[in-house]
Order: sequence, then structure tokens, then C-alpha cells
Amino acid sequence: MGSFNLAKMTLRSLVSKPATVRYPYEKRDLERLFPQMRGHVVNDIDVCILCGMCQRACPVGAITVDRKAGDWTIDPYRCVQCASCTHECPKDCLSMDVHCTEPATELSVFTMHKDMPAKPAAGAKAAGGAAAKPKRELTPEQQARVEAARKAAAAKKAAKAAQEASE
Ligand code: SF4
Ligand code: SF4
Repeated sequence: MGSFNLAKMTLRSLVSKPATVRYPYEKRDLERLFPQMRGHVVNDIDVCILCGMCQRACPVGAITVDRKAGDWTIDPYRCVQCASCTHECPKDCLSMDVHCTEPATELSVFTMHKDMPAKPAAGAKAAGGAAAKPKRELTPEQQARVEAARKAAAAKKAAKAAQEASE
């Protein structure tokens, strides 16, 4: 019986399509197949307040927040996709995109910049300081992910509000 089953499985695998795909040349429709998959972290920088909670929550030190410089940086090759940062963010501007970080031949970090409003007391001092950095231009793909993250955060917020209202 065992040999018969083995022969059946072998024959079936000879005629059926492979279960794997030739990544990165072929990609699966992850949104449809694994909508809850944790691919990589996306930050909606327009909503981010550079509070640093995500940096403190990250167990592997993948996020660096420099409020003074207005920079939010993530090392995607250090991130272990635990999603802790997305749970700790007080503005719900962090989310997990289903797509993994693109394969690369060199390690790199990804920085997003935001001009924070200057404190009134420091205004006079800031006038003589360094010029503000220009806002980083996003690629259409990154922009689409930010839009998706924004929608997901709004839905999360609405669900939270609905849950609180029903309690
Ligand atoms: S926790 Fe959220 S708001 Fe705070 S720095 Fe991180 S991404 Fe920005
Ligand atoms: S998903 Fe986890 S490992 Fe990755 S940046 Fe967020 S807290 Fe750090």
C-alpha cells in the first residue's frame, strides 16, 4: 500500500505544476493570497510626528528617529517583521505592506524626511541655523503604498472608534 501511494504521488508530481515560483522573476499575487502577510514596514510620513515610540519598540534596532533633523530611518535588512512598531505608533501611521523588501546586492537603509514646525522659543536661533532639507520625493510605487497605509490606518481608527462606542 505504501509503495502504491508513493508511486501515485510521484506520478502526480510529474504532471502537476510546481508548488514554487522562480522568485524574484515570478511573483505571486500576495494581496489576494496572503492579505495578512508582513512584508515590510511603511510609514505615512505626513502623519508621523517623529515621537520615537517605534524606535523604542523595535527589538532589533531597525528604526532610527532623529526628530531634530526630521528624519525617520528604517534598516529593512535588519527588520524581522515583528510588527511591534505598528502597534506602538500613537498616530497609526505605520503599517505592514504584504510585499517583502526587494532583493539587493548591497545593504542599505531607507530614510524619510519631514520638516517639523520650529518651536517658538527656538525660532530666532533657528533662523541662523542650517537650511531645511527638501522633502524626499517618493516613487509612484512608494506613494501607492503610503496611500494604502493611510487607508488601512483610517479603517483601523474607525474600527477602534466603533468598538469603543459599542462598549
Ligand atoms: S511611533 Fe509613529 S508617529 Fe512616532 S516616530 Fe514612529 S512612526 Fe512616527
Ligand atoms: S517590524 Fe519589528 S523589527 Fe521591523 S522595524 Fe518594526 S519593530 Fe522593528
